[in-house]
Amino acid sequence: MDNPAITPGTDNRDKRIGIDLGGTKIAAIGLIGDHQLTDIQQVNTPQNDYHDSINIIKSLVELLEDELGEEARIGLGMPGSLTRAGGLVQNANSTWLNGKPFARDLEAALGRDVRFANDANCFALSESRDGAGKGASSLFGIILGTGCGGGLVLDGRIIEGPNRIGGEWGHNPLPWAQPGETPGPRCWCGRNGCMEAWVSGPGMTADHERHTGEALTAEEIAALAAAGDNAAIATLNRHASRLARGIAMVVNIFDPERIVLGGGLSNMSHLYQDLPRLITPHIFADEKTVDIRPPKHGAMSGVRGAARLWD
Ligand SMILES: [Zn+2]
Repeated sequence: MDNPAITPGTDNRDKRIGIDLGGTKIAAIGLIGDHQLTDIQQVNTPQNDYHDSINIIKSLVELLEDELGEEARIGLGMPGSLTRAGGLVQNANSTWLNGKPFARDLEAALGRDVRFANDANCFALSESRDGAGKGASSLFGIILGTGCGGGLVLDGRIIEGPNRIGGEWGHNPLPWAQPGETPGPRCWCGRNGCMEAWVSGPGMTADHERHTGEALTAEEIAALAAAGDNAAIATLNRHASRLARGIAMVVNIFDPERIVLGGGLSNMSHLYQDLPRLITPHIFADEKTVDIRPPKHGAMSGVRGAARLWD
């Protein structure tokens, strides 16, 4: 029997497995259309071990296919992207993947084609299809966690680009830099003052430590700020200002109808109040609209978007 909730006009009658290869966790689920068929399965990402990563993904697929009762189509969201010609990983903050022929090796291990996309692109696609971006024709999806990723979706499709870096704003320099913000902290990519080095979770930790000498996680800083700690409040204010300036630069280029935040820092509710006010002074328009929302699917968006790479 046809399921009326399944989106018409797309080939989404097949069962899918979406995998999110993160820096600390690998997560996977089974889906059909918008419907989740299995519980999420999650394991720790083997650190600095490329072959172990492939073996663990293969075991997750086997586990889910046992539950699904058949072979599924597989989409995978990953840090960085695959180079167009060589299919080698580039720009991954899980740096042990960089330069490796990940697509070829994983497809060989699984014995079938796999669709790959940057993890922030998967997040943006998921939120655009049936999440906080539903109904908007253009969306900028931002992941703020251990890194600072971004993905652009226009009319339901990811904008990947010839260099496969569409939406990758995390390694642009902080714009409208203020005294004391240049050259900015060193980033893993070799540059100074990247957005990621300022506004990711570790970026916030490092900023707070430079000002106070205390190394606290973003969560701990937010808790202190909520309890009235002035240094923690100042850190959150600097962070929101920098995040707003970086987002304003993207708005001035892409002008998305909606912006959706994801990743661990998207739980910070002050951002949805502060960011529109901080972004608008930098927007090159007379009437300014900024629609910025929390994710609907939260941590599930990565796996949901990966499964939907076959839509
Ligand atoms: Zn960088």
